[in-house]
Amino acid sequence: MRPEVALTHEFVRAIPDELQERTIYVSIDFATVAHKCCCGCGREVITPLTPTDWRLIFDGETISLEPSVGSWNLPCQSHYWIRRNKVQWSRPWSREQVQAERAADARAKARYYGNEIEAAEAPPVVVPVPSVPNPTEDAESPVGASPKGGVWRRLRRWMFGA
Ligand SMILES: [Zn+2]
Repeated sequence: MRPEVALTHEFVRAIPDELQERTIYVSIDFATVAHKCCCGCGREVITPLTPTDWRLIFDGETISLEPSVGSWNLPCQSHYWIRRNKVQWSRPWSREQVQAERAADARAKARYYGNEIEAAEAPPVVVPVPSVPNPTEDAESPVGASPKGGVWRRLRRWMFGA
């Protein structure tokens, strides 16, 4: 069993650059909570407060975070709950759990934000630019380069000083 870790919390306007160990920084202005991973690995864990991410519970003396903090993207793979300024260790994530969690998170965000997220994550649509025939430019262009008339010439001049 991992040792119990007692935490303190600090309400700050903005999350400081340097985080102290075992301190939970709460920025209401930025709706963000940050702390150094409770395993002691020194990595910073940012938990944004949104309807689909984390919720902060402040009982006047201590804070709790829900849901659990799963640092599956950190080498330590820590997984714990922060409850009343104490760390409650949970089982490390299995790969299946991580995938399930990510999928559930994406679903929750898609539900909450409608299609915005999906649209934002979709690959950009490539609009084909009709190439303007330009015999002079064609003659100059090296083999394999796509002649784009004046734009290409300007770009090449800008890039290569040609
Ligand atoms: Zn860690």
